[in-house]
Amino acid sequence: MKKVTLIRGDGIGPEIAEATRRCVEATGAAIEWDVQEAGLDAMEELGTPLPEATLASVEANGVALKAPITTPVGTGFRSINVHMRQHFDTYACLRPCKSYEGVRSKYDNIDLVVVRENTEDLYAGIEFQKDTAEAAELTQWINQRSKQQIKYKSGISIKPISVEGTERIVQFAFDYARKNKRKKVTSVHKANIMKHSDGLWLDVSREVAKKNTDIEFEDRIVDNMCMQLVQKPELYDVIVLPNLYGDILSDLCAGLVGGLGVAPGANIGAKTAIFEATHGSAPKYKGQNKVNPTALILSSMLMLRHLDMFAEAEKLENAVAAVIAEGKDVTYDMKPTRDDPTAVGTSEMADAIIAKM
Ligand code: NAD
Repeated sequence: MKKVTLIRGDGIGPEIAEATRRCVEATGAAIEWDVQEAGLDAMEELGTPLPEATLASVEANGVALKAPITTPVGTGFRSINVHMRQHFDTYACLRPCKSYEGVRSKYDNIDLVVVRENTEDLYAGIEFQKDTAEAAELTQWINQRSKQQIKYKSGISIKPISVEGTERIVQFAFDYARKNKRKKVTSVHKANIMKHSDGLWLDVSREVAKKNTDIEFEDRIVDNMCMQLVQKPELYDVIVLPNLYGDILSDLCAGLVGGLGVAPGANIGAKTAIFEATHGSAPKYKGQNKVNPTALILSSMLMLRHLDMFAEAEKLENAVAAVIAEGKDVTYDMKPTRDDPTAVGTSEMADAIIAKM
């Protein structure tokens, strides 16, 4: 039995976590759940939004299935999601985007995987606020050394991209491609303009590609990539990107296949993998047995593949695809109109998926 931490989250989290747990169990996967709390409900019950026991469980098991967690605005507690990504150094954000028959979307032939670097780039959090002594000092330092001048009264965000950070994410993309029988990796950048950050990214991508010649490799400039994804998405397979472009393109790709309700994801590091839906905790639907469990269920399918439980993963994906294609036992957001009286609840959709296995 493989032990997996199940974090139930808050808002709609506990409902979709329960639906997902039942679906995974129905595949017959040899998984033992270690149920842990995090988020607003944990805050109320245990006095902390991220109990030590939860972190210890994820650390020990190395694999977690995590339902969404609210980041309350203006209360002082920082994002648990960001904290966990930093704590476990989950440097790879994985976002497969696949068309399923029955999901309303503009395309029906998409099967892409977006691999986003999660720790560097403009998201490193190295920023200097306008009118501070630090910003003035940095502006002066740069203006003395650079032909390009920064205007005083500027805010500054720093974009670090390292050899080590790029090597590990590009290698991750190749490893993922190999394990999941994918054919091509496309590295995305703006190396023609940002020669020392994106230029490094491209050089390192090419070096890593030379060690992975069993998989095809190509690169694309990010603006061209956006246009191509809209015009001919079927040309792409695994796409690896620095943090900022990855953030934007993973939502673009989720939009190509029907949006947040069906977008699974994972944050993966050297020792820890946390599987979670792309969407948030949708607090307004809490406790209503209303929302779509598909994104978390498909995230659990990725988790089964990560655990080399390929047969169970396929069983689960086929069952989800069959229920969506039928379009009968699906939640309100998958019906032609949002007030369709034939929509079923979260747990009934899970029942229908289980019945297909
Ligand atoms: P959200 O994803 O919760 O909701 C956006 C919209 O999508 C809403 O209209 C919601 O009703 C709908 N929606 C979301 N999930 C759905 C589902 N499964 N089925 C049907 N409809 C669904 O985004 P938000 O409102 O911006 O964020 C709410 C909270 O979630 C915030 O506190 C945010 O910080 C947090 N959040 C957490 C995560 C995470 O835990 N990884 C990710 C994103 C946002």
